[in-house]
Amino acid sequence: MRLTILGSSGSLAAPDNPASGYLLEVDNAPGVVLDLGPGTLARLQSFIDPASVHVLFSHLHADHCLDFPSLMVWRRFHPDAPAVARSLLYAPKPAPVFFGRLSSDDQPDGVDDLSDTFAFTPWRAHEPEIVDRVTVTPYPMVHPVEAYALRVEEHTTGATLAYSGDTAYNDQLVEAARDVDLFLCEANWGTDAGDDVPGMHMNGAEAGRAARLAGAKRLVIIHVPPWVDKQATVAAAAEEFGGPVEFGEPGTVYTV
Ligand SMILES: [Zn+2]
Ligand SMILES: [Zn+2]
Repeated sequence: MRLTILGSSGSLAAPDNPASGYLLEVDNAPGVVLDLGPGTLARLQSFIDPASVHVLFSHLHADHCLDFPSLMVWRRFHPDAPAVARSLLYAPKPAPVFFGRLSSDDQPDGVDDLSDTFAFTPWRAHEPEIVDRVTVTPYPMVHPVEAYALRVEEHTTGATLAYSGDTAYNDQLVEAARDVDLFLCEANWGTDAGDDVPGMHMNGAEAGRAARLAGAKRLVIIHVPPWVDKQATVAAAAEEFGGPVEFGEPGTVYTV
């Protein structure tokens, strides 16, 4: 499978990097988007028909999902390429109401019904979901809202990857990334200790430790805010991990 970084900026988009969004592609199957933060829908158009993709959300913070209402506009109203069938939507349980409010013309209390264009399934902790040619398993994380790390396994090749979403360091993250070929892991606190705001994010060293304990083969650092030094964050992760690690620059394609 191929994993394309649409955007990997943390907490908000940077001038040269959209906020969180990742495109997963497997031959002979629709694309799958992991999060769709601000700016990522524009990048997505360079790679694939946006009306064709399934969408999986790690959690519903703005920096991970705010391009979704615009994707619904594309799916319903693009004059040449509207969606021809419902796509799959996996997310925490509040998603239909959360996005329904953002899409409704009856502001502020209306809730647009998105079931015409997406078939929604809420994540259930540790319950695998089959999304065409991959199986995705959500692991509950430590964050101020319901949040999951997503472990992805390709059926044909057995290739695996894990995406941390946003989380403080925890043992479930290590389980989600156990022996994966590619581990996309957030390091929002950069080289800070990060303990002044508990229960929210990790620093580079914690990302490296999670990758080492999981036995991940390759670590890609993501979710670094514009004001944090990316290379220093990668260096902190590398010191703990001991394996190959780099920052997930936008546009990079990883073959797993
Ligand atoms: Zn975030
Ligand atoms: Zn978050």
